[in-house]
Amino acid sequence: MHDEDQTLFVQSVQPSLEKATELFRAYQIALPVKDIRLFLERKYHLDVFFDGDPLKIYEGVDNVSDLMKKLSDIGKAAGIKIMFPGAAEKIFSLLAMFINELVEIEFKDLVPIDVWVQSISASTGVLKGKGKIGTKALSKQLRPLMAKSFSLHIENEGASNATWILGKFGCTHCNHQDMCKLCPVYHICKGPFERACHHESGNPIDAIQLPLKLKGKCEK
Ligand code: SF4
Repeated sequence: MHDEDQTLFVQSVQPSLEKATELFRAYQIALPVKDIRLFLERKYHLDVFFDGDPLKIYEGVDNVSDLMKKLSDIGKAAGIKIMFPGAAEKIFSLLAMFINELVEIEFKDLVPIDVWVQSISASTGVLKGKGKIGTKALSKQLRPLMAKSFSLHIENEGASNATWILGKFGCTHCNHQDMCKLCPVYHICKGPFERACHHESGNPIDAIQLPLKLKGKCEK
């Protein structure tokens, strides 16, 4: 897309919703129109407040809590309720992780904690406890723990990336595909959490559901 049409990539160019939708559809990016609208709002704020440069979002902060405060302060001063609608701690950690693969940044929280990373942490015994806990509270507990353990590895974003990818593309299939040979933690995993629904389905969930769902039999 970048090579053929730079409309979405040029600072200060704010395409119409129709033009942006047309571009996304042409490149088979199946975002709902409401998300394309949010994309354009984020692009506008990126252009106006950060010169269109994602690196500038991370300037002067090295952890996600300080970053959220920075964005909130800039937003408040400009009368904006949410600077980057639809993006919160996980997305900024994820974006930092991708950026860090291209250029080294000072930002340390390269650990996107989503429901699947939380699920892996619980089902492999890293996280212990009973009952229910909100996903926000859980990610707050997990982030420093995971950031610390990943920082022991030189390629810490690689470990972080792998965990996120395993959750996103492995655990989602674990109920109907034998992950025995594909998943490196299969032998210690009790299976993915049973959850009410996935938040990407449009129905937000408040808590990871207990108890654990057992995985299928492994043919070793
Ligand atoms: S065994 Fe399945 S649920 Fe457990 S971590 Fe691996 S892919 Fe995810």
